[in-house]
Amino acid sequence: MALIVQKYGGTSVADPDRIHAVADNIAITKRRGNEVVVVVSAMGKATDNLIALANSVSSKQPGREMDMLLTTGERQTAALLTMALADRGVEAISLTGSQVGIITDTEHRKAKIIEVKGDRVRAALAEGKVCVVAGFQGVSTAKEITTMGRGASDLTASALAQAMDAESCEIYTDVTGVFTADPRIVPQARKLQKIHFDEMLEMAGAGSKVLALRSVEFARNHDVPLHVRSAFTWEPGTWVTNEEASMEDPIISGVVTDMTEAKVTVFGVPDRPGISAAMFEPLADANVNVDMIVQNTSTEGTTDISFTMPMADMAHAEEIVSRVAGEINATGVSHDNDIAKVSLVGAGMKSSPGIAAKMFRVLADESVNIHMISTSTIRVSVVCAAGDMERAARSLHTAFGLDSGADYSAPLPTRK
Ligand code: ADP
Ligand code: ASP
Ligand code: MG
Repeated sequence: MALIVQKYGGTSVADPDRIHAVADNIAITKRRGNEVVVVVSAMGKATDNLIALANSVSSKQPGREMDMLLTTGERQTAALLTMALADRGVEAISLTGSQVGIITDTEHRKAKIIEVKGDRVRAALAEGKVCVVAGFQGVSTAKEITTMGRGASDLTASALAQAMDAESCEIYTDVTGVFTADPRIVPQARKLQKIHFDEMLEMAGAGSKVLALRSVEFARNHDVPLHVRSAFTWEPGTWVTNEEASMEDPIISGVVTDMTEAKVTVFGVPDRPGISAAMFEPLADANVNVDMIVQNTSTEGTTDISFTMPMADMAHAEEIVSRVAGEINATGVSHDNDIAKVSLVGAGMKSSPGIAAKMFRVLADESVNIHMISTSTIRVSVVCAAGDMERAARSLHTAFGLDSGADYSAPLPTRK
């Protein structure tokens, strides 16, 4: 008997019809003789709606209260799906992250997992039940309810798969696997049969939302293979594993697009030691994930510093940046939400010089103006205007030989 973890994302459980379809798949998996642990996300846009609701009643939004609020989305799906399973004669129990014993640190909204106890999951499985776990959440060492960051139901799934020693961890979503680019943006994107953890990590880190970054980190560190697949067509998807690339694998495995970041520029910063530390230490202390940083060469003793960060952290970061800008006598601060990041990712880059140069040439030919550049050993990222993102991604996809030859054909459900 195999133990299978199945995670269903928001679109996959967005309405009663979807919940019925998912319940059918779980019932089939169980009747085939498997033990099943299910992890669910909030229905459709439920989390976004709860955040909008919080925005409409408060500008403070204490982390503890946000987590009390946001965890209800996943809890709702877990209870509803368990009821649908009851109708199918499948014995099941819904459990919150806290009931499962997902113990986290005390950082509300971005909590990190310390331990997964899983006693109640083991007990329920021993009674022959399916466990339906509310994703994205845990309980802190201070006994408070926490959430683990946007998209973190993926993390709940990989952590439970590891803790339960599952045979496989299936991530069901609204596309048929991991593609060479987001098929919603690059219709010519090609489905990958497999991808190495390292490349998936860079893709997730560059902003591809198909898998949450920390779920890939966790899966890689604990060697939990992930199978990303569709809850709409149910066909086999993409395996994310530690299998080494074969000789024929292309140099570039994907083009990643990300519109979730904003750019901040601090003008007229005095050019002296300690200024960057003065700016970025308070942001780090406030848990703001600063991504790219560019500092111009100074003219007449002052310089400009630009950096990107998640738009979601902006309100929080704005106060800090203005305060520090005042303290260091900078002449001004500007914000730009209208930007996008486009990245090329591929393990083969390590041994193939010239990838960045070719990327810049392709973008130049498309008249895409590059605002910022950053690189790692297997990734090159640029920031451009949001309006240029689609053109940039499609032209890079074609230029690096990734086009599949046919537009993506599986249903692409709209996100409610
Ligand atoms: P879920 O709610 O199931 O967690 P997400 O919306 O978080 O789903 O992630 C799935 C979405 O990720 C897809 O609908 C697709 O638009 C997007 N995506 C971005 N990059 C890729 C990629 N390389 N391959 C497949 N999907 C991608
Ligand atoms: N519902 C949460 C979110 O929208 C977690 C998840 O879906 O994984 O971010
Ligand atoms: Mg997701």
